[in-house]
Amino acid sequence: MSAFFGGSRSLNGVGGTAKGFVTTLEDLTLRQDLAKLTFLPWREVIPLRGSLLRSNRAWCPTCFEEMSQEGLPIYEPLIWNIKILSICPKHGNRLRDRCHHCNSKNFVLNHKSRPGFCSKCGQWLGENVEFDTIQELLELEWQIFIVRNLSGMLSYPQEHVSKLNRNILVGNVNTLIDHFTNGSVKAFSEKFNIKRTTLRSWLNASKLPCLKSLFEICYMTGNSVCDLMLNPSMPISNPRNAMPMAERTTTRRPKKSDVGPEVEKHLRHTILRSGIKSPPMTEVARELGYSKYLLCRHYPELCLAISENHRRFKRVCKENKLQNICERVKEAIVMLSASGIYPSRAKVEDYLQKPGIFFDKTVRNTWRTNLTEILNK
Ligand SMILES: [Zn+2]
Ligand SMILES: [Zn+2]
Repeated sequence: MSAFFGGSRSLNGVGGTAKGFVTTLEDLTLRQDLAKLTFLPWREVIPLRGSLLRSNRAWCPTCFEEMSQEGLPIYEPLIWNIKILSICPKHGNRLRDRCHHCNSKNFVLNHKSRPGFCSKCGQWLGENVEFDTIQELLELEWQIFIVRNLSGMLSYPQEHVSKLNRNILVGNVNTLIDHFTNGSVKAFSEKFNIKRTTLRSWLNASKLPCLKSLFEICYMTGNSVCDLMLNPSMPISNPRNAMPMAERTTTRRPKKSDVGPEVEKHLRHTILRSGIKSPPMTEVARELGYSKYLLCRHYPELCLAISENHRRFKRVCKENKLQNICERVKEAIVMLSASGIYPSRAKVEDYLQKPGIFFDKTVRNTWRTNLTEILNK
């Protein structure tokens, strides 16, 4: 079963698993349009293997939070599973692939899967995120391009998609090579940073370009992805004056070095001090001026230790507080009965000026036991 869940990402893909699953779901639900929720219609031009889908679940915490607050059904859009997409098309913040409670990654589908909840710890994955927007302009531009073109693909009229034909794609790549580098495959591969062998395998149709490469070519040459795959008379635009892909990819994710060694030192120090004070990760992140998510991604073990210490600290505080309340309830019973007042729950609450303390079972039991004792005296 776990092998099935490990491979569950292929459910949204273009392979046999997706086809079988969609057919079964359509049979069960009597719907004919579920294939549109996958990349099935594009299987003629998108390779089965490669960089299409994430191996783990990704989500926008702000989207979940909004769905919940507006009372809408919680669902996970297909677009979150596309590997090259790293932002939420609606909010612009980074998609998450780790639970902010337990820091675990989730399979795309699991026997405990429930939209909006972590399949490891079962907690709610929604949260209003303020800090996780993309700062790097070039990366943002690339991500916006991805969103626009993915939406274009998913909403492309079905009757056109069904006519997809590899030859159109190969023809269009040839047209681009002719146009930009006078037919030189070598020059084109250098200009657009694609391996020459890869480019040749596309041209002789022995391999299909992966989604990422398709998007990169279109981004650099200023074309739409749908045009490249479907339009036999694709218009030629001016190439984008952008950095080569290799340079751009280095700016996609902040590296550990950007977070800085002083951050790690601070995190370790927080763990060492945890006997005295155990702040939550949100507070530690705020002190450092980084998002909690960024820190968790770079220092998962340290952040997990801090969160665990905080949980333990909170549990101890709660136990101490409860013990303290029980002691005061005992005192109140003695004091009230000494003044000739029956120490009812309401009188004890009034005396201690602590309304609602009897919601706790331990406090109720303490009251009952001590009351019986004093009345029997
Ligand atoms: Zn969102
Ligand atoms: Zn979790």
